[in-house]
Amino acid sequence: MPPRARLYKTEAIILRGRKLGEADRILTLFTPTFGKMEAKAKGVRKTTSRLSGHLQPLNRCQLQLARGHVSDVITGCETLASFRGLRDDLDLLSRALYVAELTDRMTADHVQSLPTYRLLLDTLGRLESSPAPDTVLRFFEMQLLDQSGFRPELERCVGCGNALEPVDNFFAPVAGGTVCRQCVPGLAGPRVMTLNGLKVLRLLQRGSYNDVARVNVPPALAEEVERHLRSYIIGVLERNVNAAAFIDHLRREGARTKIEV
Ligand SMILES: [Zn+2]
Repeated sequence: MPPRARLYKTEAIILRGRKLGEADRILTLFTPTFGKMEAKAKGVRKTTSRLSGHLQPLNRCQLQLARGHVSDVITGCETLASFRGLRDDLDLLSRALYVAELTDRMTADHVQSLPTYRLLLDTLGRLESSPAPDTVLRFFEMQLLDQSGFRPELERCVGCGNALEPVDNFFAPVAGGTVCRQCVPGLAGPRVMTLNGLKVLRLLQRGSYNDVARVNVPPALAEEVERHLRSYIIGVLERNVNAAAFIDHLRREGARTKIEV
């Protein structure tokens, strides 16, 4: 078998970075080919580093890497998109960092997912240009849940399996989805799901982004949909990853995350 090439290239979106030693940084990347992966950026915290400007969280880059024993090392970087419009607006920046963080939490290392790369890239672009950034987030959340294997059940009652009647039903994140009136007693934490709430959630799950963007959702309904999705995401994260800090972050209304470079 021929030896693997020492140098290789990949496109990547930088999800986050953390300090390593005096001057280095470990970056968490999402790539089209290798899924989520880590790579070391050497000397990138020195003022003389020619890479540091390119290796900011949320940047879309073309990277050159060298295989290493523990982690691969970034040897070259070209910025393909820096999403300037997100960085100039704190509210949009905090939403974009939430998108990066949720992608990080919901995906496993080295599992290729081109649809997730596409979703991440499209979502950052949509956040930059859409007049309704919260709609962009709801679509992203629902699609990411689906792609990560945590699709909520929205067609049938998770208790009895019957198709839902077109009335107000319930949503029970712990049980994995919608619950009919007959099955609600005894369930932990069910919340009323209005018929319109169910319709919007189904559209987020089954429709295209363009379908979703065309619908005008009144504020109270948007709040209901956000509440259901948030409680479901918290449930998934609590069951599947140790993400206490992230859950706290989700629970803080209007939380703003500081970008660290
Ligand atoms: Zn039922």
